Amino acid sequence: MSTYDIVILGGGPGGYNAAIRAGQLGLKAACVEGRATLGGTCLNVGCMPSKALLHASELYEAAMGTEFAHLGIEVKPTLNLAQMMKQKAESVAGLTKGIEFLFRKNKVEWIKGWGHIDGPGKVSVTDVEGNKTELLAKDIIIATGSEPTPLPGVTIDNQRILDSTGALSLSEVPRHLVVIGAGVIGLELGSVWRRLGAQVTVVEYLDRICPGTDLEAGKTLQRALGKQGINFKLGTKVTAATPSPTGVQLSLEAAAGGSAESLEADYVLVAIGRRPFTQGLGLENVGLTTDSRGMLSNRGHRTEVPGFWVIGDVTSGPMLAHKAEDEAMACVEQIVGKAGEVNYELIPSVIYTRPELASVGKTEEQLKAEGHAYKVGKFPFSANSRAKINHETEGFAKVLADERTDEVLGVHLVGPNVSEMIGEYCVAMEFSASAEDIALTCHPHPTRSEALRQAAMNVEGMATQM
Ligand code: FAD
Ligand code: NAD
Repeated sequence: MSTYDIVILGGGPGGYNAAIRAGQLGLKAACVEGRATLGGTCLNVGCMPSKALLHASELYEAAMGTEFAHLGIEVKPTLNLAQMMKQKAESVAGLTKGIEFLFRKNKVEWIKGWGHIDGPGKVSVTDVEGNKTELLAKDIIIATGSEPTPLPGVTIDNQRILDSTGALSLSEVPRHLVVIGAGVIGLELGSVWRRLGAQVTVVEYLDRICPGTDLEAGKTLQRALGKQGINFKLGTKVTAATPSPTGVQLSLEAAAGGSAESLEADYVLVAIGRRPFTQGLGLENVGLTTDSRGMLSNRGHRTEVPGFWVIGDVTSGPMLAHKAEDEAMACVEQIVGKAGEVNYELIPSVIYTRPELASVGKTEEQLKAEGHAYKVGKFPFSANSRAKINHETEGFAKVLADERTDEVLGVHLVGPNVSEMIGEYCVAMEFSASAEDIALTCHPHPTRSEALRQAAMNVEGMATQM
């Protein structure tokens, strides 16, 4: 039996960041991870492999279509899908090894195997060979993450009916990929396979894509992806999916009900959301309960049971790696008596399609629902010189500011590389900046970031570049 100051269950962005911070603060920390590699969903089967394929497929399409030729670069690319997958796997392996290095550097012990809560302060870990180790700790952080939400009637076999993990490692380009769910995973992985040559149909239950994003931004993204060839069936539900060795027969009908329609695909991706993962964790041994969605509640990262803390996808808030990371830091700091805190109002989100959609703060719909008076400043990338020179003019920057105080309340960007630019507004909003603060801040020329400044200037109708 080994004793630690802190034991962390799960080695994803929540767990590994908590472990590293604990090590930095001089705590004796152990991180229990059942996967063969550290890094959780994000590094192994989430953020990182999806971005590897998005990057590679974007370049392939640019070379394959008219984009390179228009720039005077004449090439005839051929797709080597096996190599594309191999470089993805190598990058992922490098990243997961990087976490192992950081554990060694910060004196964190990785306990390999699946953790189980045996009682207050007690965890047992069973490794692949079935050996059991017992750990004792004053504080235990639950960071066990999430898993894909299943869809009744559409059984994932990862042969023909895939979850995101299956869709990240296909060995052939589908002729027709049907994606169920027009959320982040559906649009990112749908984009990957469309760029590589698949016909892609996205079936979405609601009458809009990406619920929760600013409606105007979502519509603009949908229009752009539609022009690229993704076919959207909104307000539609899948009622059955029958796989065969060569494909899948789907039955669809209007979300409100109606006559059935059939659709054939050679692969189906189910991407209707993720749910917290606490299976086999032994929550009942300490009286921990989950809500109807399987989520562990938390107040300032504490569960209702003293000594048990919770962070990341397994608890409330957006299921995002940077949210898990921020909670990890705040949670460990609270454990050692520091004042760790997460500002849930300012967690940015990005959809890494082309164009990208990046947001932080309130949407127009939220402000309207709250009855919050606001002003809007918008600036299109078609009027931004760098975007024009690069032939990437789709989308806009939109700044929402308080009608009275001018404080920036929300920012919604659709356009090139906006994932790299939203951080400017995260910092500004953390300091309660006004739109005028951004409008009066010098930005480098020529950059796409000037569109973000011009949008802030346009809160008072002062944009100078359109
Ligand atoms: P996880 O990363 O899920 O890690 C939990 C870990 O706990 C897992 O490794 C699991 O094996 C382990 N575990 C579970 N139970 C036990 C147990 N009993 N004992 C031991 N170990 C256990 N987010 C972004 O911010 N940006 C993106 O671009 C992005 N892209 C994504 C793309 C895809 C395809 C997917 C699926 C997700 C993506 N996400 C993205 C979401 C992101 O991956 C998650 O929000 C993030 O990984 C959550 O971190 P976590 O530590 O809470 O959980
Ligand atoms: P999501 O919540 O983003 O989207 C799910 C979509 O499926 C929604 O549009 C929803 O209305 C729709 N839907 C739900 N039930 C349906 C049904 N029966 N039929 C048709 N449509 C249905 O979920 P996701 O795309 O699976 O992603 C899961 C999580 O992973 C998200 O919370 C996201 O935050 C995270 N993620 C983030 C990134 C990123 O940050 N770039 C990338 C991938 C995943």
